Amino acid sequence: MKLVTFESAGSVGVGVLEGEEVANLSATDGGPADMVELISWGRDAIADLSRTAPRLMRDSVRLLAPIPRPRKNVFAVGRNYVEHAKEFSDSGFDASERQQLPDDPIFFTKPPTSVIGPDEAIDTSNDPTGTTDYEGELAVVIGRAGIRIPKEEAMDHVFGYTICNDVTARELQKRHVQWEIGKGPDTYCPMGPCIVTADEIEDVGSLWLRTRVNGELRQEAPVADLIFDISTLIAVLSSVMTLEPGDVIATGTPPGVGIGFDPPIYLQPGDVVEIEVEQIGTLRNPVI
Ligand code: MG
Repeated sequence: MKLVTFESAGSVGVGVLEGEEVANLSATDGGPADMVELISWGRDAIADLSRTAPRLMRDSVRLLAPIPRPRKNVFAVGRNYVEHAKEFSDSGFDASERQQLPDDPIFFTKPPTSVIGPDEAIDTSNDPTGTTDYEGELAVVIGRAGIRIPKEEAMDHVFGYTICNDVTARELQKRHVQWEIGKGPDTYCPMGPCIVTADEIEDVGSLWLRTRVNGELRQEAPVADLIFDISTLIAVLSSVMTLEPGDVIATGTPPGVGIGFDPPIYLQPGDVVEIEVEQIGTLRNPVI
């Protein structure tokens, strides 16, 4: 299933994307309040409800971020592709660097206020340093709560997958050493266009991610290139904290970001960033 949050006639709902239609789960008796509640129901209950839900035409609704306001910060992972770790190191922008390739995953977070949906604008006026960069990433959505989840059981806790753009103000990332400010400006976490449930993706590592800026291919890598795979990320995070339904983990970005160029190529108003992950779709956002 492809799950979406959408706006239609002034109200927000959640549904299942089915070709040219959306099964409007919010219009059913006892329908979910939002995507996080829906995720907590589990896949079978969602499928049952979708069979009887009224349909809307896909082109009559506006897609929002699948989880427009996550209840906690979006988890994200730094330097999780070898070639990106090298380009980031070579750029001189990583003030926190101890070694080029990390021995353990590097986690940071992006605040709920940074989340925007498909086609919403990345607002570079929130970066006074003018050094805004894109990072195309596969994101994992947690379905089942857990703490101290063993690596072998980690994938059982995955509800599905979406796409995030871990937009970053590079100069702020460098200046403040800790990445929170550089990663946290409003509009700097585009997410979407949908959540694909994990049962639809046989081998997540085989999916390719591609990022285009104004149609030009900048990033292209398979998820299998992750240094720390999804099971490891879930096991390490949950070793100390409870993961809950609706938690999002952006897994890291492959090489080809703007600071990988010499001189760096930053996003400018008028640019359009498109991140495509096979079997999920394309997350497109204009830059203002
Ligand atoms: Mg990133």
